[in-house]
Amino acid sequence: MPEGHTIRHLADVHAAHFGGKVLQASSPQGRFATEAWTISGREMTDVTARGKHLFFHFDGDVVHIHLGLYGWFTLVPGVAPKPKDTVRLRLQNDDTTSDLIGPTKCELLTETGRHKIIERLGVDPISYDPTTDEELRERKFHKILSSKKSIAELLMDQSIIAGIGNVYRAEILFRAGQNPFTPGRELMPEILDAMWDDARRLLKLGAEDGMIRAVEPEHLLNEEQRRYKYGQFSYVYKRNGQLCRICGGVIESISLGNRTVYWCPGCQE
Ligand SMILES: [Zn+2]
Repeated sequence: MPEGHTIRHLADVHAAHFGGKVLQASSPQGRFATEAWTISGREMTDVTARGKHLFFHFDGDVVHIHLGLYGWFTLVPGVAPKPKDTVRLRLQNDDTTSDLIGPTKCELLTETGRHKIIERLGVDPISYDPTTDEELRERKFHKILSSKKSIAELLMDQSIIAGIGNVYRAEILFRAGQNPFTPGRELMPEILDAMWDDARRLLKLGAEDGMIRAVEPEHLLNEEQRRYKYGQFSYVYKRNGQLCRICGGVIESISLGNRTVYWCPGCQE
């Protein structure tokens, strides 16, 4: 499931293959045909990301993509074969073809439109720069620390922190030993600071290759350690009914909002 680390990884990959180059764009599915025609034959001048939002820049025009739960890119070297008819957007040059399927959002915006989206989003753990984002971070943390809502809900609110999804939420709360249902206003500020530092480190690590690595290697089972390079492991996410890697208690889950929260009652009292 794409969270902030996936989007940053996809941004980096697209920038490496297409940045500064002239591309051909098309919409085999037809739903983005006019917009694709507008950017086709132009240079991709930049690629940026904020939270779960990806932006391809074409000198003033911006393609905004949100993958949602099911959207995905497939990149193949060279000129790809005939596209599937579900491809919303195909970008290609002589070296690489990128096909986008099933996004929640794929739209053409101006820079002003992009800024409107950025303004609605919270602070991004991956792109956070203390010289420019500190005031934003303080404002958002104040919101968390004065809220009646649970920290589990607050961490998923993209207008507060942009980029954390269900997997990182579960894992960051576990790693902090923090109960998911604690109201934001009862959270200790130093715990929030520690979770923020952990989120920044974990999401940046995940962005390197698009894989979530939240479990410290020494907490993996033997057979998992052999697969660590290739697999994703969790402390609590989707491990409900299994035994906790740390305390041996049973991992629990409950539906909150429309998403499932996973936690260890032993480690996260
Ligand atoms: Zn435990």
